[in-house]
Amino acid sequence: MKQPNAVILDRDGVINDNRAIVHVNRPDEFVLFEDVPRAIKRLNESGMLVFVATNQGGVGLGYMTSEQLSDIHVEMVRQLNEQGARVDAIAVCTHAPGEGCDCRKPKPGMLQTLQSEFGFCFATSFMVGDRETDVDAGRAVGMRTVRIGRSKTKADFCTPDLTSAADWIIHAASL
Ligand SMILES: [Mg+2]
Ligand SMILES: [Zn+2]
Repeated sequence: MKQPNAVILDRDGVINDNRAIVHVNRPDEFVLFEDVPRAIKRLNESGMLVFVATNQGGVGLGYMTSEQLSDIHVEMVRQLNEQGARVDAIAVCTHAPGEGCDCRKPKPGMLQTLQSEFGFCFATSFMVGDRETDVDAGRAVGMRTVRIGRSKTKADFCTPDLTSAADWIIHAASL
């Protein structure tokens, strides 16, 4: 059987708009980008697995608890599901920056955990992020990479939002 393709999304700056509140520590601070549910729904419908992999060093630094972080993710999933979009799993790194864990991006630990659990093929899957650390994590395991925002990047594709990222991914996955 053909292995499924996967799309791993960074959270802040990809799924939710954190330009006003950089560090989202509460569910009411979580602002979904308007186009994201539809973009994720299209990835779902194309048969790809959709994951979130997010660095949340604020937990390790003591700015929020793991419980608050999971409340934020319950709210994220609620808003996505409400609009017909599905996330297959959420991977989080709650270690503080500088703690030397294997999961904080640019390390690929979260991607490897998802891969071993769901068995998709890295080479035919995609990592999407708004920072070069996301791109570096994807490249470290041989994924194709999309950078949201900045054009100065090692990513395979650079684009302003998840809608156009999804267009590119669905096309690239079909080749
Ligand atoms: Mg980000
Ligand atoms: Zn970690």
